Amino acid sequence: MEKRILKTENINFKCKAEDIPLTRRELKNLFNYRIPCLCCGREMLHPDEYMKLLNIKELSGNAELVIQILSPYEKIMYPVERQVFNMLKNLAVKYPDKNFQELLLIKKDSHELALVRIQSIIFNKISFYRRILPEKEAKQLRNLMIKTNDIIFDPQPKKPFSRRIFITKIKHIVRNLNNKRIKHEIIEISRRLPRSSDEVCAFVVKNARKRPEIIALNLIHPAVGTFEHLQPKSQKGMNNSLNFALECSYCNNSRHHYPIPVQIEENPYMPQNAQIQADKLISLYKKNIGSKEYIKNLKKVLYNLSYEQIELDISKLDD
Ligand SMILES: [Zn+2]
Repeated sequence: MEKRILKTENINFKCKAEDIPLTRRELKNLFNYRIPCLCCGREMLHPDEYMKLLNIKELSGNAELVIQILSPYEKIMYPVERQVFNMLKNLAVKYPDKNFQELLLIKKDSHELALVRIQSIIFNKISFYRRILPEKEAKQLRNLMIKTNDIIFDPQPKKPFSRRIFITKIKHIVRNLNNKRIKHEIIEISRRLPRSSDEVCAFVVKNARKRPEIIALNLIHPAVGTFEHLQPKSQKGMNNSLNFALECSYCNNSRHHYPIPVQIEENPYMPQNAQIQADKLISLYKKNIGSKEYIKNLKKVLYNLSYEQIELDISKLDD
């Protein structure tokens, strides 16, 4: 515990303006150079480019036109979003005057059934652990599963099912288990629950309730570049480039305020992807874009906050 406090302090020291390696504008400028996300490694879209899309009124209009507007971005769409985009393209041939929401609603019922089918297989596997868990945990698991089934089998639930809240509750139930193997297994199984980013059916169900222009923007949004607070803001992380990493919106949003080791659990390739980003930053620095101090600081902060799981090799910086 002591170690944890010490490390946090290291990152929260008060700093002078001249100690900050890059201004926000300079850091944002790096998005012009096809930087891969620190966590997932996918190429990011410049946030200003996305801001331009926010002002296009036609996105709420008929699908045919929206498809034309979005086509240049197809190559940066993430796999599920690209599949949905293709589905919308096909539907638009048949219904050119409908908007994106109307098109998704055509598909909603069948996709919702497909989603519940995948979820219920996973819930069944989790429920099995009632047979092997100690009495107290088994009882808690029973209660959670009853509530969860009430949500997913109700065609009009008051609150939609949340994968994130479910996993948090599972972790809470198994937190004191002595059997580490079982603990790990249950958490791993619940992680297999589909997210709208990895199953088309989950995307369709989640987005069919949204306005047509929001659906259009959601197809692109995951790829938008952001500043990730390495030390979360809620834990007094600084608001400048000493604490900022370049990460896509998807990874930034899915991390919430969780520590980096939890982010690595969800994204096992993060250490390798962070290295790919560092290599890119180094090659840009050699062309006088970015800053050496930023890269050195990134290495130090990632090493500390990941509890030594991310150890960037920046030896090429001094070549
Ligand atoms: Zn990412």
